[in-house]
Amino acid sequence: MSAPIGRLAPSPTGVLHLGNARSFLLAWLDIRARNGQLLLRIEDLDGPRIRAGAEQAAIQDLLWLGLDWDAECQRQSERLLVYRQALEQLIHKQRAYLCNCTRRDVENAASAPNLGEEGPIYPGTCVARFDHTAAAKLAQQDGVMPNFRFLVAPGITQFVDRFVGPTAMDVAQQLGDFVIWKRADEAAYQLAVVVDDAASHIDEILRGDDLLFSAARQIQIYTALELPIPHFAHVPLIRGADGRRLAKRHGDTSLRSLREQGLSSKQLLGWLAWQSGLQAAPTPCTAAELVADFDLQCVPPTPVTWRGSFNA
Ligand code: GLU
Repeated sequence: MSAPIGRLAPSPTGVLHLGNARSFLLAWLDIRARNGQLLLRIEDLDGPRIRAGAEQAAIQDLLWLGLDWDAECQRQSERLLVYRQALEQLIHKQRAYLCNCTRRDVENAASAPNLGEEGPIYPGTCVARFDHTAAAKLAQQDGVMPNFRFLVAPGITQFVDRFVGPTAMDVAQQLGDFVIWKRADEAAYQLAVVVDDAASHIDEILRGDDLLFSAARQIQIYTALELPIPHFAHVPLIRGADGRRLAKRHGDTSLRSLREQGLSSKQLLGWLAWQSGLQAAPTPCTAAELVADFDLQCVPPTPVTWRGSFNA
């Protein structure tokens, strides 16, 4: 088996926090333990949510953690043409269509029982509404465009997640056709991530389980573009003592603030390794010291709980 290729893909929308540190550490270990290659990709497509300086801060945090990568970092904002080509291919295959529904339209069209996990299920209002050659022309010209949606294949999307195990999702029933090109004339996350991972030959994706449902959408895009599907591993997020997703209410868990309070990266890594089943106690250590014995099977399936202290 050839050495795996993985990636670290921070979004520069804010500072990295404890939860990001754990997912990035596991992604890094999973590749380093198998002598694979790691790439760094800055996912800076989220327009107004991108914060100045966040990219540099994320890179600084990753280096502070002792996580490295093997090639020059890639930025999604520099790859719009490649995403546009993928959109054109999907239009050509009649798997992408123009949609001028606003969020409000979708919400109004979907009655209460039609609420999926991620909001209202798109009722298909614009399927076959616009001629697809018009859509293709629009995709080639610059300027403000309507959304493009991906035509979801009906039925169950199945895959075996390396962490979660066999997973089955019905994207059509749970979400409906989803946006792959945004009104602001920019690829949406689901399309950009597939195009980038395929172009970089990424075959191992390890990330937080908040993206588990996205994997089913991404598999549908891989399939439509006839690209090889990578392996996925979705690990639980860190939660607060109240069981809720880590947020401001649980205190400032940004790596920058923890560092400013005097926490060393070794203390943090020791705690993360202990919480991730890689050490019997929160003994300070470096990321590199965890490589030799790393085994994804040791990581418990339950979420890590942050109780406000790095001690046992
Ligand atoms: N950029 C995304 C995030 O920071 C990760 C996307 C991915 O790993 O596919 O949440």
